[in-house]
Amino acid sequence: MSAPNIETIVSLSKRRGFVYRASDIYGGLGSSWDYGPLGVELANNIKKAWWNWVVYERDDIEGVDSSIILNRNVWKYSGHETTFSDPLVDCRECKARLRQDKLDTDAEGKFICSNCGSTNLTDPRPFNLMFRTTIGAVSADDDPAALAYLRPETAQGIFVNFKNVLDTSRRKLPFGIAQIGKAFRNEVTPGNFIFRTREFEQMEIEYFVKPDEAASAHQHWIDGFHGWINSIGISDVNLKDYEQTKEELAHYSERTVDILYRFFPERGDEEKQFDELMGIANRTDYDLRVHSKKPEDAEGKRINPDSTEDLSYFDSATNERFYPYIIEPSIGVNRTLLAVMMDAYTEKTNEKGETRVILKLRPEMAPIKAAVLPLAKNKPEIVEMAKRLKKDLQPSMRAVYDDTGGIGKLYARQDEIGTPFCVTVDHESLEDNAVTVRNRDTWEQERVSVDQLKEYLVGKLAT
Ligand code: ATP
Repeated sequence: MSAPNIETIVSLSKRRGFVYRASDIYGGLGSSWDYGPLGVELANNIKKAWWNWVVYERDDIEGVDSSIILNRNVWKYSGHETTFSDPLVDCRECKARLRQDKLDTDAEGKFICSNCGSTNLTDPRPFNLMFRTTIGAVSADDDPAALAYLRPETAQGIFVNFKNVLDTSRRKLPFGIAQIGKAFRNEVTPGNFIFRTREFEQMEIEYFVKPDEAASAHQHWIDGFHGWINSIGISDVNLKDYEQTKEELAHYSERTVDILYRFFPERGDEEKQFDELMGIANRTDYDLRVHSKKPEDAEGKRINPDSTEDLSYFDSATNERFYPYIIEPSIGVNRTLLAVMMDAYTEKTNEKGETRVILKLRPEMAPIKAAVLPLAKNKPEIVEMAKRLKKDLQPSMRAVYDDTGGIGKLYARQDEIGTPFCVTVDHESLEDNAVTVRNRDTWEQERVSVDQLKEYLVGKLAT
């Protein structure tokens, strides 16, 4: 089972403290969200799992953390200033502002307003998605000399550091650079909770290869990411590959495959249930070329007169110099978090006939690994023992102590937030130095000696 719709996750998130509406006490800010105590833990677990898999478990990827605001030339030569736009249309009937490429068409091929159904729309005009800002103490807000952008992707900060990383890490092809960080896009139609927001976080790899190895490396990353996505608890039945058509490809891409997740299971048309979780592009040698001082056009003029470096690569084995091709797997933290929560969502009926929510997160993803609960909070010895156990567990795993309700309520709360194990200290614990460990998914209980507790939990969490 998985969540029937995004709304279910929105209310669970609010109720339990995963995600809140941003600036809520001032009425919110369109499509902005804040991550609460559990949301930040889940997001950190996703980032940790990705970084472990990408940087630590391989031998050919280095990490970086580049600036959000870069020299404007980066966006000039990357093509973002001229081409990073969506086709914007206005509905003349209901005044809605829409992204044309996301609209359905009628039998005559006319675009239909997704708000009111009218086909009376304006012609499309390009709307640049980059957020603008100014640098320094400028006299006018539109001073072109001070104009800068918030990065709309983390990728460019990697390309402009290609030579730095290559020289300092003494790498040879193939190798990659990984980065996790915020990106900003002034989206025309944000929405669907954290699926599309104007501020979001990306996890990107730029993997540099010889041109003739690009196609196979691309396929390798597509397959690899399926495995990683499964490993964090997202099942294959809710995933689908989408091969972008020639018309859809970005100007730099030779081939792009998107991995889609079933974010909208409530939609009747199965095709429409899926939307993009991540994209994996073969960006060719476009990026390193456009940021290099060397290449010249047909008339012998430098294509990039502002760059001070040549980002070509010298292959000492073949004595060849060339611009590496780049394979880019790019995945959003926020969409991954939403997919992980949707996939883990389950309902179960207890013996009283009440429906309980269980978030069956993989232990690695769970914000809290163990909750230590006192059966009687008015008995100081029990409380003291429970608090001591929490302290003992904490260096090995994220553990919490909770005495804010009866045991049934406490179990239900931990099930809903995905805590794999509850540890209950009762009257007998004082006598036999043992506790009851309850399994989130089976609701089975086992008596475990306090001396064995840490080892027992660490073992179970690793499976
Ligand atoms: P879309 O077609 O949905 O606008 P995109 O193809 O423009 O996405 P990419 O540029 O490929 O997205 O970005 C890589 C990843 O970053 C996406 O697969 C997604 O996970 C994430 N992402 C992109 N834009 C947003 C956004 N506005 N809000 C949340 N995540 C985003």
